[in-house]
Amino acid sequence: MPPDPLQLPDKGHGASYKRGRAASCRTVLYGFARARDGEVKSSMLMLYLKKNRGLVVLAALAALLIVASCDRVTLGRGSRSHSGATITCPIDGLPATKDAIHRRPLAVLIENSPQARPQSGLDQACVVYEGITEGGITRFLAIYLHNTPETVGPVRSVRPHFIYLAQEYDPVLVHCGQSYEALQILTTAPPVFDLDQLKHDAPFWRDRSRRAPHNLYASAEEVRAYMQQQQWDGTVQRMQQFTGSGKLLNADPATEAKISFGGAVKYSLKLVYDSKAGGYLRYMDGKLHVDRVTKRPLVAKNVIVQYVWNEEFANSTHGTQDVRVVGSGAGWLMTGGQRTKVRWNKLDYGAITKFTDDYGAPLPLRDGQTWVELVPADGNVIFAQPVADRAR
Ligand SMILES: [Zn+2]
Repeated sequence: MPPDPLQLPDKGHGASYKRGRAASCRTVLYGFARARDGEVKSSMLMLYLKKNRGLVVLAALAALLIVASCDRVTLGRGSRSHSGATITCPIDGLPATKDAIHRRPLAVLIENSPQARPQSGLDQACVVYEGITEGGITRFLAIYLHNTPETVGPVRSVRPHFIYLAQEYDPVLVHCGQSYEALQILTTAPPVFDLDQLKHDAPFWRDRSRRAPHNLYASAEEVRAYMQQQQWDGTVQRMQQFTGSGKLLNADPATEAKISFGGAVKYSLKLVYDSKAGGYLRYMDGKLHVDRVTKRPLVAKNVIVQYVWNEEFANSTHGTQDVRVVGSGAGWLMTGGQRTKVRWNKLDYGAITKFTDDYGAPLPLRDGQTWVELVPADGNVIFAQPVADRAR
Protein backbone atom coordinates (compact mmCIF):
# COMPACT_ATOMS: atom_id res chain seq x y z
CA MET A 1 0.00 0.00 0.00
CA PRO A 2 1.51 3.35 -0.96
CA PRO A 3 1.54 5.89 1.87
CA ASP A 4 -0.46 9.08 1.93
CA PRO A 5 1.31 12.05 0.34
CA LEU A 6 3.33 14.03 2.83
CA GLN A 7 1.38 16.98 4.17
CA LEU A 8 3.74 19.76 3.28
CA PRO A 9 3.08 23.43 2.65
CA ASP A 10 3.28 24.50 -0.96
CA LYS A 11 6.93 24.99 -1.84
CA GLY A 12 6.33 27.80 -4.30
CA HIS A 13 4.30 29.82 -1.84
CA GLY A 14 6.98 29.52 0.84
CA ALA A 15 9.70 30.59 -1.55
CA SER A 16 7.82 33.66 -2.77
CA TYR A 17 7.01 34.61 0.81
CA LYS A 18 10.70 34.53 1.62
CA ARG A 19 11.53 36.64 -1.42
CA GLY A 20 8.82 39.12 -0.44
CA ARG A 21 10.25 39.61 3.03
CA ALA A 22 13.75 40.09 1.69
CA ALA A 23 12.53 42.68 -0.82
CA SER A 24 10.72 44.68 1.87
CA CYS A 25 13.87 44.70 4.00
CA ARG A 26 15.88 46.02 1.09
CA THR A 27 13.28 48.73 0.39
CA VAL A 28 13.43 50.08 3.95
CA LEU A 29 17.22 50.08 4.06
CA TYR A 30 17.37 51.76 0.64
CA GLY A 31 14.98 54.44 1.92
CA PHE A 32 17.28 55.16 4.87
CA ALA A 33 20.28 55.43 2.57
CA ARG A 34 18.47 57.88 0.34
CA ALA A 35 17.44 60.06 3.30
CA ARG A 36 21.03 60.16 4.48
CA ASP A 37 22.29 61.29 1.05
CA GLY A 38 19.47 63.81 0.48
CA GLU A 39 19.88 67.47 -0.03
CA VAL A 40 18.75 68.47 3.46
CA LYS A 41 21.38 70.76 4.93
CA SER A 42 22.87 69.66 8.25
CA SER A 43 21.43 72.59 10.22
CA MET A 44 17.95 71.92 8.89
CA LEU A 45 18.38 68.26 9.69
CA MET A 46 19.36 69.00 13.29
CA LEU A 47 16.31 71.25 13.68
CA TYR A 48 14.11 68.49 12.29
CA LEU A 49 15.60 65.92 14.65
CA LYS A 50 15.13 68.24 17.64
CA LYS A 51 11.49 68.87 16.83
CA ASN A 52 10.67 65.25 16.06
CA ARG A 53 12.82 63.42 18.62
CA GLY A 54 10.03 60.98 19.51
CA LEU A 55 9.38 60.18 15.85
CA VAL A 56 13.07 59.58 15.16
CA VAL A 57 13.40 57.19 18.12
CA LEU A 58 10.35 55.27 16.92
CA ALA A 59 11.72 55.05 13.37
CA ALA A 60 15.08 53.77 14.66
CA LEU A 61 13.36 51.09 16.74
CA ALA A 62 11.26 50.03 13.76
CA ALA A 63 14.39 49.78 11.58
CA LEU A 64 16.10 47.58 14.19
CA LEU A 65 13.09 45.25 14.32
CA ILE A 66 12.98 44.98 10.53
CA VAL A 67 16.70 44.23 10.27
CA ALA A 68 16.37 41.60 13.04
CA SER A 69 13.46 39.94 11.21
CA CYS A 70 15.50 39.98 7.97
CA ASP A 71 18.07 37.78 9.73
CA ARG A 72 15.42 35.31 10.82
CA VAL A 73 14.05 35.00 7.30
CA THR A 74 17.29 33.30 6.27
CA LEU A 75 16.29 30.32 8.44
CA GLY A 76 14.16 29.17 5.54
CA ARG A 77 10.59 28.33 4.63
CA GLY A 78 7.90 26.44 6.56
CA SER A 79 6.26 27.20 9.90
CA ARG A 80 6.09 30.81 11.05
CA SER A 81 8.34 32.15 13.80
CA HIS A 82 7.12 34.78 16.28
CA SER A 83 8.35 37.48 13.91
CA GLY A 84 6.18 36.10 11.11
CA ALA A 85 9.17 34.63 9.27
CA THR A 86 9.00 31.00 8.21
CA ILE A 87 11.35 28.30 9.47
CA THR A 88 12.49 25.03 7.97
CA CYS A 89 15.03 22.40 8.84
CA PRO A 90 18.36 23.36 7.20
CA ILE A 91 19.13 19.72 6.36
CA ASP A 92 15.95 18.69 4.52
CA GLY A 93 13.91 21.89 4.07
CA LEU A 94 10.90 20.53 5.98
CA PRO A 95 8.84 22.79 8.29
CA ALA A 96 10.31 22.97 11.77
CA THR A 97 10.19 24.94 14.98
CA LYS A 98 13.02 27.27 15.91
CA ASP A 99 13.98 25.17 18.95
CA ALA A 100 14.11 22.00 16.84
CA ILE A 101 16.75 23.30 14.46
CA HIS A 102 18.93 25.38 16.78
CA ARG A 103 20.42 22.33 18.44
CA ARG A 104 22.99 19.63 17.84
CA PRO A 105 21.92 16.80 15.46
CA LEU A 106 22.00 13.14 16.45
CA ALA A 107 23.80 10.65 14.19
CA VAL A 108 22.60 7.12 14.92
CA LEU A 109 24.02 3.84 13.61
CA ILE A 110 21.11 1.56 12.76
CA GLU A 111 21.38 -2.12 11.87
CA ASN A 112 20.04 -3.54 8.61
CA SER A 113 20.34 -7.31 9.00
CA PRO A 114 17.07 -9.17 8.31
CA GLN A 115 16.66 -9.74 12.09
CA ALA A 116 16.76 -5.97 12.59
CA ARG A 117 13.94 -5.25 10.10
CA PRO A 118 11.70 -3.45 10.24
CA GLN A 119 13.69 -0.70 11.95
CA SER A 120 12.23 2.06 14.10
CA GLY A 121 12.58 5.78 13.46
CA LEU A 122 14.27 5.79 10.04
CA ASP A 123 11.18 7.57 8.69
CA GLN A 124 11.86 10.58 10.94
CA ALA A 125 15.50 11.14 10.02
CA CYS A 126 16.43 14.22 7.97
CA VAL A 127 18.86 12.16 5.92
CA VAL A 128 19.87 8.49 5.92
CA TYR A 129 23.15 7.05 4.60
CA GLU A 130 23.23 3.39 3.57
CA GLY A 131 26.66 1.80 3.30
CA ILE A 132 28.55 -1.44 3.81
CA THR A 133 30.33 -2.75 6.88
CA GLU A 134 31.86 -6.23 6.37
CA GLY A 135 30.97 -9.05 3.99
CA GLY A 136 28.67 -6.84 1.92
CA ILE A 137 26.16 -6.28 4.71
CA THR A 138 24.73 -2.78 4.92
CA ARG A 139 24.04 -0.43 7.81
CA PHE A 140 22.37 2.96 8.16
CA LEU A 141 23.62 6.26 9.51
CA ALA A 142 20.50 8.30 10.31
CA ILE A 143 20.77 12.03 11.06
CA TYR A 144 18.10 13.61 13.29
CA LEU A 145 17.67 17.35 13.71
CA HIS A 146 14.08 18.60 13.47
CA ASN A 147 12.38 15.38 14.63
CA THR A 148 12.66 13.68 18.01
CA PRO A 149 11.41 10.08 17.54
CA GLU A 150 10.41 8.07 20.59
CA THR A 151 12.14 4.93 19.36
CA VAL A 152 15.23 4.60 17.18
CA GLY A 153 17.01 1.36 16.40
CA PRO A 154 18.26 -1.30 16.52
CA VAL A 155 21.45 0.60 17.35
CA ARG A 156 24.71 -1.07 16.25
CA SER A 157 28.44 -0.41 15.94
CA VAL A 158 30.20 2.24 13.87
CA ARG A 159 32.85 2.14 11.12
CA PRO A 160 35.32 4.90 10.07
CA HIS A 161 33.43 6.08 6.96
CA PHE A 162 30.27 6.60 8.98
CA ILE A 163 32.25 8.75 11.45
CA TYR A 164 33.63 10.89 8.61
CA LEU A 165 30.12 11.41 7.22
CA ALA A 166 28.55 11.97 10.65
CA GLN A 167 31.02 14.73 11.49
CA GLU A 168 29.57 16.82 8.64
CA TYR A 169 26.76 17.60 11.12
CA ASP A 170 28.88 18.16 14.27
CA PRO A 171 26.57 15.69 16.02
CA VAL A 172 26.39 13.38 18.99
CA LEU A 173 27.24 9.97 17.53
CA VAL A 174 24.93 7.28 18.95
CA HIS A 175 26.20 3.71 18.54
CA CYS A 176 27.08 0.47 20.31
CA GLY A 177 30.77 -0.28 19.93
CA GLN A 178 32.93 0.05 16.82
CA SER A 179 35.57 -1.65 14.69
CA TYR A 180 39.22 -1.44 15.73
CA GLU A 181 39.86 1.26 13.12
CA ALA A 182 36.91 3.34 14.30
CA LEU A 183 38.10 2.99 17.91
CA GLN A 184 41.43 4.59 16.94
CA ILE A 185 39.56 7.62 15.61
CA LEU A 186 37.20 7.92 18.58
CA THR A 187 39.92 7.55 21.21
CA THR A 188 42.67 9.71 19.68
CA ALA A 189 40.94 12.79 18.23
CA PRO A 190 37.19 12.22 18.24
CA PRO A 191 35.55 14.53 15.68
CA VAL A 192 32.13 14.00 17.28
CA PHE A 193 30.58 13.75 20.75
CA ASP A 194 30.70 10.00 21.31
CA LEU A 195 27.66 8.32 22.86
CA ASP A 196 28.74 4.67 22.86
CA GLN A 197 26.34 2.35 24.68
CA LEU A 198 29.33 0.31 25.84
CA LYS A 199 30.54 3.35 27.82
CA HIS A 200 27.20 5.01 28.63
CA ASP A 201 24.47 2.72 29.92
CA ALA A 202 21.82 5.46 29.72
CA PRO A 203 19.80 6.25 27.61
CA PHE A 204 19.46 2.83 25.91
CA TRP A 205 17.24 -0.19 26.47
CA ARG A 206 16.93 -3.75 25.21
CA ASP A 207 13.64 -4.81 23.60
CA ARG A 208 12.97 -8.27 25.07
CA SER A 209 10.72 -9.22 22.14
CA ARG A 210 13.81 -9.41 19.94
CA ARG A 211 17.07 -11.31 20.36
CA ALA A 212 20.39 -9.58 21.09
CA PRO A 213 22.29 -8.03 19.42
CA HIS A 214 19.36 -6.92 17.25
CA ASN A 215 17.36 -5.34 20.06
CA LEU A 216 19.15 -2.22 21.35
CA TYR A 217 17.02 0.93 21.11
CA ALA A 218 17.18 4.57 22.14
CA SER A 219 14.71 7.43 22.44
CA ALA A 220 15.82 10.66 20.79
CA GLU A 221 14.20 12.62 23.62
CA GLU A 222 16.09 10.65 26.28
CA VAL A 223 19.32 11.01 24.31
CA ARG A 224 18.79 14.79 24.28
CA ALA A 225 18.15 14.84 28.04
CA TYR A 226 21.35 12.84 28.52
CA MET A 227 23.21 15.28 26.24
CA GLN A 228 22.20 18.10 28.57
CA GLN A 229 23.56 16.19 31.57
CA GLN A 230 26.84 15.65 29.70
CA GLN A 231 26.86 19.27 28.51
CA TRP A 232 26.96 18.08 24.89
CA ASP A 233 24.00 20.15 23.75
CA GLY A 234 24.41 23.46 21.94
CA THR A 235 24.09 24.83 18.45
CA VAL A 236 26.01 23.89 15.33
CA GLN A 237 27.66 26.47 13.09
CA ARG A 238 27.57 24.53 9.79
CA MET A 239 26.25 21.24 8.52
CA GLN A 240 25.52 19.29 5.35
CA GLN A 241 22.31 20.41 3.61
CA PHE A 242 20.05 18.60 1.16
CA THR A 243 17.72 21.28 -0.17
CA GLY A 244 17.35 22.68 -3.66
CA SER A 245 15.09 23.87 -6.45
CA GLY A 246 13.53 20.45 -7.16
CA LYS A 247 13.65 21.13 -10.90
CA LEU A 248 15.55 18.65 -13.06
CA LEU A 249 16.47 19.79 -16.55
CA ASN A 250 17.51 17.38 -19.31
CA ALA A 251 16.88 14.43 -17.00
CA ASP A 252 16.30 10.79 -17.86
CA PRO A 253 13.44 8.78 -16.40
CA ALA A 254 14.17 6.89 -13.19
CA THR A 255 11.00 5.28 -11.93
CA GLU A 256 12.75 2.13 -10.78
CA ALA A 257 16.30 1.20 -9.82
CA LYS A 258 17.97 -1.87 -8.40
CA ILE A 259 21.03 -1.39 -6.22
CA SER A 260 23.47 -4.11 -5.23
CA PHE A 261 26.03 -3.39 -2.51
CA GLY A 262 28.15 -6.32 -3.64
CA GLY A 263 26.96 -8.66 -0.87
CA ALA A 264 24.18 -11.14 -0.25
CA VAL A 265 20.81 -10.75 -1.95
CA LYS A 266 19.18 -10.07 1.43
CA TYR A 267 20.83 -6.64 1.30
CA SER A 268 19.73 -5.93 -2.27
CA LEU A 269 17.67 -2.79 -2.67
CA LYS A 270 14.96 -1.87 -5.15
CA LEU A 271 13.63 1.68 -5.37
CA VAL A 272 10.27 2.33 -6.98
CA TYR A 273 8.95 5.84 -7.60
CA ASP A 274 5.46 6.40 -6.20
CA SER A 275 3.90 9.57 -7.60
CA LYS A 276 1.24 9.66 -4.87
CA ALA A 277 3.90 9.64 -2.16
CA GLY A 278 6.13 11.93 -4.23
CA GLY A 279 9.15 9.76 -3.55
CA TYR A 280 10.78 6.35 -3.78
CA LEU A 281 9.52 3.31 -1.90
CA ARG A 282 12.20 0.87 -0.77
CA TYR A 283 12.16 -2.89 -1.21
CA MET A 284 14.82 -4.80 0.74
CA ASP A 285 15.32 -8.33 -0.60
CA GLY A 286 12.02 -7.91 -2.43
CA LYS A 287 10.02 -6.89 0.64
CA LEU A 288 8.54 -3.41 1.14
CA HIS A 289 10.63 -1.55 3.72
CA VAL A 290 8.39 -0.11 6.44
CA ASP A 291 8.79 1.50 9.83
CA ARG A 292 8.25 -0.85 12.78
CA VAL A 293 6.28 1.71 14.82
CA THR A 294 3.99 3.26 12.20
CA LYS A 295 3.92 0.25 9.81
CA ARG A 296 4.05 2.81 6.99
CA PRO A 297 6.48 2.49 4.07
CA LEU A 298 9.70 4.48 4.14
CA VAL A 299 9.70 7.13 1.41
CA ALA A 300 12.88 8.69 0.03
CA LYS A 301 12.13 12.08 -1.51
CA ASN A 302 15.61 12.18 -3.04
CA VAL A 303 18.05 9.33 -3.57
CA ILE A 304 21.71 10.13 -4.14
CA VAL A 305 23.86 7.27 -5.38
CA GLN A 306 27.45 7.94 -4.34
CA TYR A 307 29.93 5.53 -5.93
CA VAL A 308 32.80 4.93 -3.50
CA TRP A 309 36.02 2.97 -3.71
CA ASN A 310 36.60 0.43 -0.95
CA GLU A 311 39.13 -2.16 0.12
CA GLU A 312 39.92 -4.10 3.26
CA PHE A 313 42.04 -2.29 5.84
CA ALA A 314 45.59 -3.67 5.96
CA ASN A 315 46.00 -6.10 8.89
CA SER A 316 42.27 -6.16 9.51
CA THR A 317 41.29 -9.35 11.29
CA HIS A 318 37.56 -8.93 10.66
CA GLY A 319 37.51 -7.85 7.03
CA THR A 320 36.72 -4.25 7.96
CA GLN A 321 36.32 -2.13 4.86
CA ASP A 322 38.08 1.15 4.18
CA VAL A 323 35.24 2.93 2.38
CA ARG A 324 36.66 6.05 0.75
CA VAL A 325 34.18 8.82 1.36
CA VAL A 326 37.03 11.35 1.27
CA GLY A 327 38.07 12.27 -2.26
CA SER A 328 35.80 12.62 -5.26
CA GLY A 329 33.67 10.52 -7.55
CA ALA A 330 30.51 10.10 -9.55
CA GLY A 331 26.94 9.14 -8.84
CA TRP A 332 23.28 9.75 -9.58
CA LEU A 333 20.46 11.82 -8.20
CA MET A 334 16.98 10.32 -8.42
CA THR A 335 14.09 12.63 -7.61
CA GLY A 336 10.53 12.99 -8.90
CA GLY A 337 10.88 9.88 -11.08
CA GLN A 338 13.88 11.31 -12.94
CA ARG A 339 17.62 11.04 -12.67
CA THR A 340 20.67 13.12 -13.39
CA LYS A 341 24.41 12.57 -13.05
CA VAL A 342 26.17 13.67 -9.87
CA ARG A 343 29.71 14.61 -8.96
CA TRP A 344 30.80 14.53 -5.33
CA ASN A 345 33.90 15.64 -3.53
CA LYS A 346 35.02 15.80 0.07
CA LEU A 347 38.34 17.55 0.32
CA ASP A 348 39.43 16.09 3.66
CA TYR A 349 38.05 14.24 6.66
CA GLY A 350 36.70 17.43 8.24
CA ALA A 351 35.12 18.82 5.05
CA ILE A 352 31.47 18.67 4.08
CA THR A 353 30.81 16.58 0.97
CA LYS A 354 29.89 18.77 -1.97
CA PHE A 355 27.36 17.32 -4.40
CA THR A 356 26.84 18.95 -7.80
CA ASP A 357 25.39 17.98 -11.15
CA ASP A 358 27.67 17.15 -14.08
CA TYR A 359 28.08 20.87 -14.85
CA GLY A 360 29.04 21.89 -11.31
CA ALA A 361 25.62 23.33 -10.42
CA PRO A 362 23.90 22.55 -7.08
CA LEU A 363 21.70 19.47 -7.16
CA PRO A 364 17.99 20.11 -7.86
CA LEU A 365 16.84 18.33 -4.71
CA ARG A 366 13.28 18.37 -3.41
CA ASP A 367 12.47 19.26 0.17
CA GLY A 368 12.14 16.10 2.23
CA GLN A 369 14.12 13.07 3.31
CA THR A 370 17.22 12.24 1.28
CA TRP A 371 18.85 8.80 1.22
CA VAL A 372 22.51 8.61 0.26
CA GLU A 373 23.41 5.17 -1.13
CA LEU A 374 27.14 4.52 -0.79
CA VAL A 375 27.59 1.98 -3.59
CA PRO A 376 30.99 0.22 -3.28
CA ALA A 377 33.39 -0.93 -5.98
CA ASP A 378 31.74 -4.32 -6.45
CA GLY A 379 28.20 -2.96 -6.21
CA ASN A 380 26.08 -1.63 -9.05
CA VAL A 381 22.96 0.30 -9.98
CA ILE A 382 20.55 -0.80 -12.70
CA PHE A 383 17.83 1.58 -13.85
CA ALA A 384 14.68 0.04 -15.30
CA GLN A 385 13.50 2.01 -18.31
CA PRO A 386 9.81 2.56 -18.95
CA VAL A 387 8.31 0.52 -21.82
CA ALA A 388 7.97 3.61 -24.03
CA ASP A 389 11.69 4.23 -23.68
CA ARG A 390 12.65 0.68 -24.62
CA ALA A 391 10.69 0.99 -27.87
CA ARG A 392 12.88 3.81 -29.16
ZN1 LIG B 1 15.25 17.88 9.22
